[in-house]
Amino acid sequence: MTTAQLISAHRIIVKIGSALIADGETGDIRGSWLETMIEDVVRFFSRGQQVIIVTSGAVAVGSRHFNEFDVPLRSEERQAAAAIGQVRLMLAFEQSLKRFGFGLGQILLMGEDLRNPHRRLNVLSTVRQILKVGAVPVINENDTTATADTRFGDNDRLAAQLAELVQADIIILLSNIDGLFTEDPHDNPSARLITEVRRITPQIEAMAGHSVSRHSSGGMLTKLMAARIAMDAGCYMIIAKGNKSYPLSAIENGGPSTWFIPFARDRSDRHTCGDNLPQAQ
Ligand code: GLU
Repeated sequence: MTTAQLISAHRIIVKIGSALIADGETGDIRGSWLETMIEDVVRFFSRGQQVIIVTSGAVAVGSRHFNEFDVPLRSEERQAAAAIGQVRLMLAFEQSLKRFGFGLGQILLMGEDLRNPHRRLNVLSTVRQILKVGAVPVINENDTTATADTRFGDNDRLAAQLAELVQADIIILLSNIDGLFTEDPHDNPSARLITEVRRITPQIEAMAGHSVSRHSSGGMLTKLMAARIAMDAGCYMIIAKGNKSYPLSAIENGGPSTWFIPFARDRSDRHTCGDNLPQAQ
């Protein structure tokens, strides 16, 4: 359940957590790591696959201007940090993709964009057009103007809802943990990695705990919520630690990860190449 699925997937969403893209101490973008991740993405494109990137990190990158005293940011500071950090993030992505002749198209989304039928179709057609011209869609939440009731809150669920919209085959959540463990491995070193999940049962939920980090909004519980959305949409989801170089190659080579397997369903009705997807109005 690894390499073959990944190689045969047509459309893949790669979600990058804040802890991978931004140095935890300085907030600097981890440029060398990003280059290797992009190299992996380019390899996927070169074998005919499509990749859509969802990246966190805007707040983590921009927050150094605001958290002089290392206290949690106020809401308006967080929004301004995101505004500053997002630009730096996109510049870094653009630079890395340019080396391989790819452009990028930035899309910033609010929850409503994936709920309202017209906006959904607009998002879909924008993604299609970006891919059509050989650029990579790079998506984040629109943190600068999102309010409590319009926010996704975390990019794990944003990635899953997007996967449902674009009919992705696999979502890869690159995180700072190898996957889902029977217990928190920081507390219990003998905790076991669960390599495959076919149903999200109360026992699985109990394993997820409540871990969250300083700049990102997601923990294992939000990843399970994302997995539920993905599986219901017939999409695989992988959680893997992405902090080393070439994180996608590592998964492909059988590195540690948790795979969420959707229920068996007839996928023949799924559009596989985007060309026959519905048009936006
Ligand atoms: N959108 C936030 C950012 O770019 C991160 C949200 C999340 O961690 O899921 O900083």
